[in-house]
Amino acid sequence: MIRINENYLDLQDSYLFSTIAKKVSKYSKENPNKKIIKLGIGDVSLPLAPIVIKAIHSATDEMAKKETFRGYGPEQGYDFLREKIVEYDYKTKGIKIQKDEIFVSDGAKCDTGNIVEIFSNDNIIAITDPVYPVYLDSNVMAGRAGKYDTTINKYEKIVYMQAVAENNFSPELPNKKVDMIYLCLPNNPTGTVLTKDELSKWVQYAKENKSIILFDSAYEAFIREENIPHSIYEIEGAKEVAIEFKSFSKTAGFTGVRCAYTVIPKQLKAYTKEGKEVNLNKLWNRRQCTKFNGVPYITQRAAEAIYSCEGQIQIKENIDYYLENARIIRQGLKNAGYSVYGGKNAPYIWLKVPKKYTSWEFFDYLLEKANIVGTPGVGFGPSGEGYFRLTAFASRENTIEAMERIKNI
Ligand code: PLP
Repeated sequence: MIRINENYLDLQDSYLFSTIAKKVSKYSKENPNKKIIKLGIGDVSLPLAPIVIKAIHSATDEMAKKETFRGYGPEQGYDFLREKIVEYDYKTKGIKIQKDEIFVSDGAKCDTGNIVEIFSNDNIIAITDPVYPVYLDSNVMAGRAGKYDTTINKYEKIVYMQAVAENNFSPELPNKKVDMIYLCLPNNPTGTVLTKDELSKWVQYAKENKSIILFDSAYEAFIREENIPHSIYEIEGAKEVAIEFKSFSKTAGFTGVRCAYTVIPKQLKAYTKEGKEVNLNKLWNRRQCTKFNGVPYITQRAAEAIYSCEGQIQIKENIDYYLENARIIRQGLKNAGYSVYGGKNAPYIWLKVPKKYTSWEFFDYLLEKANIVGTPGVGFGPSGEGYFRLTAFASRENTIEAMERIKNI
C-alpha cells in the first residue's frame, strides 16, 4: 500500500491569496465599472533592464551555434556568474566569500524550502511572527512542527518570535534554545530592517547555542539607509553560523526569469548526534549535485549582466522607482492618519488597521470604499492580526491614485 508523507496533512490550507482572489473577483463582477488597484502582490511590474535583455539575446544566439552551444552546466552555477557575485556582492562590502561557497539556483523560494533537508528533524525551529510562509511550511512538511493548535493558530513545536510595533519589529531572542533561526531582512511582510548591532545579537546567540541562522536577504537591494547590513556576513563571526539566501527576483526583476543564489561558507558546521562536526558546504553541494541540474546558461548570462556598470545603473533605476512608490504610500497613509511601518528600505508597507477592524475586515473595507486590494496581516501569522500589507510594485499612476482614494474615503 502506497503511503503518503503524513506531515503534509499537518499543513494548514493557505487561504490567503485564494481568498483575496475570490473576494476581488466577486466584487468586480458585482461592480463592473469600478477600477480596482492591486497593491497586494509581491511581484515586480517593470520590464527587465535593457542590458539584461541584450545578454539574453546574445546568450540565445550562442545556443544556436555548434561551437558555442551549452548543455548541462555546473550544478553550482557557472564561474562567470559566481565570480561576479563574489566581486560585487561581497568584496565591495569588505566580505571575503569564495566562489565555491556560492550555489546559484532557480530561486530563493526553492533554496529556503529545500535547505531543511540537510538538517535533522529533531531541530527546534524559530520563525518570526509574522513570517514569509515558506520557512514554516517547509518545516511542517519535514515533520518538525508538531500539531497545529487551532485555538492559538500555532504549531506546538515551532518557536514564534513576535515582531510587532511594540518591539519595533525587532523580535526578542528566543527564551529557550533553538537550533534553526529564520531571519528575513529587509522583512517581508513588515518592510522593517535591523541595524548591525541588532543583527549582531542574533549572531552571538547562534554562536553561544550552536544554532544556525537562515538569513533571507531577497530585498537587500532596497536598503538605502546607513548602518543597515546588506549581508549577514558584515557581522563578525557570521560565517560560522549563517547561510545567506539572495535572489535576483526583486533586485533585477527576475521573478519570471528565475535566478538566485545561496551562500554556505566553508567554516559553517553542524553536528551529528554524537557531536561530530560536519561541513555544511559539502553537504549542500552533495544535495545539489544529486537533485539539481543547474540554472540555464541564458539565465545566468542575464544575471551576470546586472553586474556591469550599465546594469547597476539600470536595476537601481527600477528599484528607485519602487522605493518612490513606497514613499508615496507611506506619506499618503500617514496623511490619512494611519500608523505606518517599513517602506524605507523595502517594497513593503505595513500599516496598523483601525482598532474597530480585524485585518480581513479592513481588507473588505478598503476594497469596497476605495477599490484597493492589499493583504491582511493575519495571513502571515497570528501576530499579523491588526496589520495590513501594501506593496510598492504597482505603477506610479496607480500608486498615486490609490493614495488619493484613501485620502477621500
Ligand atoms: N524570500 C522572500 C522573503 C520573498 O518574499 C520571496 C518572494 O516573494 C522569495 C524569497 C522568493 O524569491 P525567488 O523569486 O527567488 O524564489
